[in-house]
Amino acid sequence: MSVFKTEAIALGRTDYSDSSQIITFYTRDYGKIHTIAKGFKRASVKHGSKAVDLLTYYQILFIKKEHTHLHTLTEAILQENYPLLRSNLDKYYKASYIAELVNEFTEESDPCEQLFDIFLNTLTGISTDTDATIRLLVFEIKMLHILGYLPEWRHCVNCKKSIQHISKVHFNAKEGGVLCRTCQVKYRNGIIVPAGVALIAGRLADLNLQKLERVKIQLPICIEIEKMLRYYITSILNKKLNAWKYVKF
Ligand SMILES: [Zn+2]
Repeated sequence: MSVFKTEAIALGRTDYSDSSQIITFYTRDYGKIHTIAKGFKRASVKHGSKAVDLLTYYQILFIKKEHTHLHTLTEAILQENYPLLRSNLDKYYKASYIAELVNEFTEESDPCEQLFDIFLNTLTGISTDTDATIRLLVFEIKMLHILGYLPEWRHCVNCKKSIQHISKVHFNAKEGGVLCRTCQVKYRNGIIVPAGVALIAGRLADLNLQKLERVKIQLPICIEIEKMLRYYITSILNKKLNAWKYVKF
């Protein structure tokens, strides 16, 4: 029996019994893990509150079980609970959305430090930004990049021609990027997007997070980028995400 320690963000939880819950964490060292948390559900006056909150950053200790995916949580030491997220519904929904993305796009026990770091950085950013719209778009695009799903937004995926001087392009999720007018006739499906919107989305993939506060993008363009991302994510996951009902731009 070995005890493991790692940094973790709580993604989800479900009741298991009167006194225990199954808590899903995204961890720095072990990727997504499911843990059974006995006695964590009810706050005990004697031992202090042991409840684990969602969208909260912890240092956790857990016992790794060999032939099961359900490990045992032994301790969750609070690092940051982002109080500003909890007092603002718009921020809370945006943070819930990034947690849903991480949950949907990752497999169990498949660690990715880079994704953990940007997840943590984005949670902090959403809680402190006056307007977290651009931060959310950057997270979606960078996550797709890190996990190998970044679409081609600068050149036609078929003829490789730059879309720089085209007004509108077809964005085709199945082909993984934009198609110029000549090439789009050969393909079915896809959505029409202004080429400028695709080019801005492409630039966000390479954006240095330290410089994010200096980036200004008009709201109608943010809305177009988000529309394109939701269409693309639906195509990858083959479903719509719950948070889309609540995250408004
Ligand atoms: Zn083309």
